[in-house]
Amino acid sequence: MNTIENLPTKTEIFGVSYSIIYDSDLWEKEKCWGVIEYKKQTIKIWRNEDFSLEDYWNIIIHEVIHGISTALDLELESTDEGEKRLNRLAQGLTKVLLSNNWINPNLIEKGDKL
Ligand SMILES: [Zn+2]
Repeated sequence: MNTIENLPTKTEIFGVSYSIIYDSDLWEKEKCWGVIEYKKQTIKIWRNEDFSLEDYWNIIIHEVIHGISTALDLELESTDEGEKRLNRLAQGLTKVLLSNNWINPNLIEKGDKL
């Protein structure tokens, strides 16, 4: 299966629709936890049993920020330092979204480790 219960299977970034797929072999194939493929309009997320819900959201939001960065020519990922800042921004945004129950409040109520 390329989906995970309660995690999104699509997103829209400035009018462009992306499929989100969860791929057990992504690390094996691409040596990354997530990747956004602009031409295929696909975001691939590494499906890993050791990931927490927060880990998944971090990766999803990380890739979405890449999409925003590209759409707005922010060039956040043009340097290693920029990529690190993008990653920290994604982690911070994920924390705020989760702690305010703006994403996946149902899973938080179920006591999922966050
Ligand atoms: Zn990145």
